Amino acid sequence: MSIGINSAGCIPPFSLNLKMFVTSLSGSYCNSLIQYSRLKTREVKVGDVGIGGSNPIRIQSMTTTDTMDTIKTVEQSIRMIEAGCELVRITAPSMNEAKNLENIKKELRKRGYKTPLCADIHFTPNAAELAARIVEKVRVNPGNYADRKKFEHIEYTDKSYDEELERIRERFLPLIKICKENGTAMRIGTNHGSLSDRILSRYGDTPLGMVESAFEFLRICEEEKFFDIIISMKASNAQVMVQAYRLLVNKMKGRASGPHPLRGSSGNALPLRPGQLVVLPIYPLHLGVTEAGDGEDGRIKSAVGIGTLLEDGIGDTIRVSLTEEPEYEIPVAKNLAERYSKRVDHKRISSLETNDSRLKTTYSPFEYKRREAASILNIGGGNVPRVIADFSNKEKITAASFFAVGYNYSVSLDKWNLTDQACDFIYLGGNKIAFEIPGTLGLIYSPDTYAALKNKTRSYPLFCGSEYFSSKEKSAELNFVVVDVVALQNPKFKLQELEKNVVLIFDTTNEHGMAEQRSMFMALQENNIPVIIKRNYKDLSEDKFQLYSATDLGGLLLDGFGDGIWIKQNNCASPQLINSTGFGILQATRTRISKTEYISCPSCGRTLFDLQETTAKIRSKTSHLKGVKIGIMGCIVNGPGEMADADYGYVGTGVGKITLYKGKEVVKRNIPSETAVEELIGLIKAGGDWVEMAS
Ligand code: SF4
Repeated sequence: MSIGINSAGCIPPFSLNLKMFVTSLSGSYCNSLIQYSRLKTREVKVGDVGIGGSNPIRIQSMTTTDTMDTIKTVEQSIRMIEAGCELVRITAPSMNEAKNLENIKKELRKRGYKTPLCADIHFTPNAAELAARIVEKVRVNPGNYADRKKFEHIEYTDKSYDEELERIRERFLPLIKICKENGTAMRIGTNHGSLSDRILSRYGDTPLGMVESAFEFLRICEEEKFFDIIISMKASNAQVMVQAYRLLVNKMKGRASGPHPLRGSSGNALPLRPGQLVVLPIYPLHLGVTEAGDGEDGRIKSAVGIGTLLEDGIGDTIRVSLTEEPEYEIPVAKNLAERYSKRVDHKRISSLETNDSRLKTTYSPFEYKRREAASILNIGGGNVPRVIADFSNKEKITAASFFAVGYNYSVSLDKWNLTDQACDFIYLGGNKIAFEIPGTLGLIYSPDTYAALKNKTRSYPLFCGSEYFSSKEKSAELNFVVVDVVALQNPKFKLQELEKNVVLIFDTTNEHGMAEQRSMFMALQENNIPVIIKRNYKDLSEDKFQLYSATDLGGLLLDGFGDGIWIKQNNCASPQLINSTGFGILQATRTRISKTEYISCPSCGRTLFDLQETTAKIRSKTSHLKGVKIGIMGCIVNGPGEMADADYGYVGTGVGKITLYKGKEVVKRNIPSETAVEELIGLIKAGGDWVEMAS
């Protein structure tokens, strides 16, 4: 099946469905699945800062102050810049704010800061046109630049669809002209939660709809020979976000045709002759997970989404959106980006043999499909991914040690209580335990220790590669076999000779370990042995430990790989942090839900209440509601759309006024903020999602 490419090098907009798209172009979303290589994009200059091309991954963030407060915005921008922010975005909801960007810029320059500014625009083309004359970049949201969303399902004919596109074109052309005249760059920033009614009616709220939403605007820019464009595909669901960026790259790669370069040596765009084929560029990509929340959850979710793409060389600039002060976002973004500065020198990954035809039907980078695995005890099959804690290096293990991994022992009741984040197995290595363990827990031992156990109840051995075949003392129920890429390729290691009660553990020491482990999964497509993903970390700060593990494990889980996780570390984090990180990764990839999910916006100049304080208050009362998704959004303009799939929503609608949502429906409008949290709890109770907090 081939995809038609028209004379302009574009894939026609409505001629494909996802299945066709995936089957015909599977895999072509990055340079290599096994060798780290940054996707080469066009360089776009934003002031003096180059984004894309061979520039480093740029770090950016957004102010949260009122744009009309010049000094507060300048001072916050300076805090961000001094933390390492290379591009400062400021919201411009109306003409007044757009105009005040001039004062902000002047004051920043006066104080010696040359960092380029970006105006963030929703709904207001006139504000965009003014801002584009002042700042170095404007961001437009194709979901609402020319449309006010009605949340309606409208049936479009090709004619009515084209008429709407023509109306958008007319609204959009003046901005393009101003950007060209002033050397202003543009971000076409699609958000999953704010797709237009037109896109939703034709594509639904899918990754493909997000890509098409950007392309509607991109085509207009290209027809006007305006190429200083950066594109983003943000979502609060990391799975959707990753798939959308991959589809976008796939589509941009797919349309390059013709031998003619677009730019002359001066850097100016060359005029195109009618009918001339051109190499349409791959535009730089701005990565971000929207409404990621705060604290550990926000960091893990951001790393899962952004890190997964960076691993494959995708991404030229990143913004980590946290419900915290914007300067706190910068170290997180830097830690994520800097990891790739020397990645290209990683140990070579030898390509494992795969059966391509089977691979195509079982794996797609553009849609989530969990790898099929047999069920062994509580691992694989339809079971949630399991968590293995590692106590092998502990000198002394007592009942109190289990507290960190989700188990509390009640002395008065003489019983174990489990939390929602209780690990499933503990690897003890050569250690032993001299007390009764919780009834749901399994213990994993080195082969010698296992062989010497008198009571083997809920105890299982772990073998190293081929050691499994020579061992006489195996479990009749469950055996773990750890392999790395070398062991998996060793002819002595015969997969087909493993018994049906074996779970593999994939290990890696490669710096580009996610790709190496992914290639191991791909080599295993013919086989349905359950697999646990193991990663090892040493001498990292807690922040880096969380971000790296969320990237490495999250990237595989998002692709449907892995029936469990095992994080081993040395001198990085406490057992409690390791456990909460593991469960946080599973939650962020939506493969195992163990807590409440908060979809809270980072706040900006539109915010109508103290988001950090309110989020903390709501969290303190609802953090025990496992699986419930609560949106906490600063404004009514973007909030309802951006919280997309939240079960309940708390949205600022005016000073001191809150509107509450159940799903996408308004349930209480403009209630006083003083009582809004209690009203939200009442709503959750009425919705049947409330449980009392355990005392
Ligand atoms: S939802 Fe939050 S971050 Fe988005 S525009 Fe509204 S206040 Fe700003």
